[in-house]
Amino acid sequence: MSTTRDYYEILGLSKDATESEIKKAYRKLAMQYHPDKNKEEDAEAKFKEISEAYAVLSDTEKREQYDRFGHAGIDGRYSQEDIFRGADFGGFDDLGDILGNIFGGGFGGFGGGQRRQGPARGSDLRYDLGITLEQAAEGVETTLNIPRAENCEACGGTGAKAGTSPKTCSTCHGSGQVTQARNTPFGRFMSTSTCNACHGRGNVIEEPCPACKGTGKMKKVRKISVKVPKGTDNGLRLKVRGEGEEGSPGAPSGDLYVVIHVEPHDKFQRVGDDILYEQPISFSMAALGGDVMVPTLHGKVKMSIKPGTQTHSILRLKGKGMPHLHGNSHGDQLVKIIIRTPTKLTGEQKDLLNKFQELESGSDAKNPKGGKGIFGKMKGAFEAGI
Ligand SMILES: [Zn+2]
Ligand SMILES: [Zn+2]
Repeated sequence: MSTTRDYYEILGLSKDATESEIKKAYRKLAMQYHPDKNKEEDAEAKFKEISEAYAVLSDTEKREQYDRFGHAGIDGRYSQEDIFRGADFGGFDDLGDILGNIFGGGFGGFGGGQRRQGPARGSDLRYDLGITLEQAAEGVETTLNIPRAENCEACGGTGAKAGTSPKTCSTCHGSGQVTQARNTPFGRFMSTSTCNACHGRGNVIEEPCPACKGTGKMKKVRKISVKVPKGTDNGLRLKVRGEGEEGSPGAPSGDLYVVIHVEPHDKFQRVGDDILYEQPISFSMAALGGDVMVPTLHGKVKMSIKPGTQTHSILRLKGKGMPHLHGNSHGDQLVKIIIRTPTKLTGEQKDLLNKFQELESGSDAKNPKGGKGIFGKMKGAFEAGI
């Protein structure tokens, strides 16, 4: 026994201290000498001393022994381990961690005790599914081939050869836990941890199932049908409950998560539920106006070009965008007009354009109206809602 100081003196108490006074005094001193907080050289020794004093004085029987016989009454009857084992260190939540660290997780009322692990739940699986923008717009139902671990049919997932069964673990006698002696600054203590022989399962396989080599699992490919809703956007995660890896016998299976990747489209660009599309038109159509057939996710649509349309004007096709996910309405298709300047002209075209230029020079060709710029015009187009 390392300490010979009077336990009451250590805690700064009188002999007739009440239970709550003892607890209060211990809490105060334990906080003060907490080895995590107090870095003084003798803090741990101090902490040990006050803990021992508290362990004795907080226990009616040990306190009585100590009151009658002093240290001799304790040393003669209790091992260091016994002193702490019976003590009530519960209710010191703020000290729980350090007490647990010193005594080991499974000791007394310090919390952190390990429970038997039991049959394991199956792992969750992730599957990345690529779809086209058209499929995202229409919705798609598809069958996936999912490789996953299932319980072995030969042994039913136990891992033991058919006709045999797993034996109760002789190391932990089926509890899945072992109690071990730990050497701590307080002396030797018993702590409880997961059994290494059976990894907490409580049983061991003597004759492994040849089909699964004792693992209880087999890799199988499972066909799973998934429905991708219309309006699906990139990154949407669909949860298919119970279609992850199969759990050990008696435990639930994991879940399957299907993550949707919408492939980039060569014509359409998605922005939220709207679709952006660039429509090339000739400069004569831009000047004179006319109709053009515009592709959309829902088929071709006739769109009117007003005379005098500028390049980069944006026209809106209402309701021709993506369907809202879980809704009935649609976004719009925004059509950006790109005016193509001809690069190869026939002689006749050239003549006509020369003539046009001559006529133009008499009007506003030298002083083209401007000032708004392209951004101003685009903004104008948006505001006009065309
Ligand atoms: Zn098997
Ligand atoms: Zn075991």
